[in-house]
Amino acid sequence: MEGMAIRLQGLRKSFGETTAVAGVDLEIRDGEFFSMLGPSGSGKTTVLRMIAGFEAPSDGRIELAGQEVTGLAPFERDVHTVFQDYALFPHMTVEQNVAYALKVRKVPKAERLVRARKALAEVRLEGFGKRRPSQLSGGQRQRVALARALVGRPRVLLLDEPLGALDLKLREQMQVELKALQREVGITFVFVTHDQEEALTMSDRIAVFHQGRIEQVGTPAEVYERPATAFVASFVGTSNLLEGESAHRIVGSPGTYSIRPEKIRVLKESAEADQPEHSTAVGTVAEVVYLGDATRFLVDLDAGGRLTALQQNLETSSEDVAAYRGTRVRLQWHRRHAVAVPVPD
Ligand code: ATP
Repeated sequence: MEGMAIRLQGLRKSFGETTAVAGVDLEIRDGEFFSMLGPSGSGKTTVLRMIAGFEAPSDGRIELAGQEVTGLAPFERDVHTVFQDYALFPHMTVEQNVAYALKVRKVPKAERLVRARKALAEVRLEGFGKRRPSQLSGGQRQRVALARALVGRPRVLLLDEPLGALDLKLREQMQVELKALQREVGITFVFVTHDQEEALTMSDRIAVFHQGRIEQVGTPAEVYERPATAFVASFVGTSNLLEGESAHRIVGSPGTYSIRPEKIRVLKESAEADQPEHSTAVGTVAEVVYLGDATRFLVDLDAGGRLTALQQNLETSSEDVAAYRGTRVRLQWHRRHAVAVPVPD
């Protein structure tokens, strides 16, 4: 199909008794930055390995650019995989590492060098070509692995937790760079991560995996603002799950609702709920946490249950927040921020 980089239909994979992938249907468009997000063991790496051809599906079908590839070997697929441990050759220079894939494909030497240098420039590693991997930092090695993946201009780049080995600061920097690089080269990126913030930051769309299935596919905003299931609401960001029936006045009709902490305002107990479209609940502050840019309130509701509210620190200082502990407050939020989420049986 035009414009479709990857199509998965009824994909399943069992390892003996373990069902790793329990039926996945998915379409990834050409040029998308697509993330597969889920907790450890949810099946995302197995799906990636089946797309790459390292693992044969127990059932189902895989198409790349409209062609069925289900039974093809990895080298027969127009994809390249970047692993977390980079898998660079230690005895080769950076340039040789990057040019290696072209050598295998018998590209003439002069052209290999030109293309390797171009790929190194794309990942901002000009001038590093003569070094060995051991003479590079973790972030630089990561970039070499990317350059090596890009040099053959695959249609699809598969990335399995490629930033997992980096420290937080470098990781955040690489997230921004990787996204910019993807936009620049226009190759479809399929990115596996268990880090919801990383997925939200980088992706055009996200598939949220749970127990070998996909629970939701959507843009970061859709997945965050309109979680399709209680699992998605709790896994992506922090969420308050509330029962509409038991919590009087909190939400309208029966069912389970998700409300994001930053959508809840913390007011004085005496404050009136002024707008009909607002819901409110009163309670006692059980815990208050100063986070620098914001303060987190854990409030035990009179109606039962506990809610987390997050307030930006516009004027508050760390000395002020402790005084809230044990005080009575009113929580208020707009009704549209209480999103109904189905809970599977
Ligand atoms: P992680 O983030 O920890 O890599 P994941 O979501 O990528 O997790 P998978 O690696 O796809 O999950 O694993 C899904 C399930 O399949 C797990 O229960 C895992 O133990 C099992 N599994 C994966 N590979 C194999 C294998 N080669 N043999 C047996 N079981 C496997």
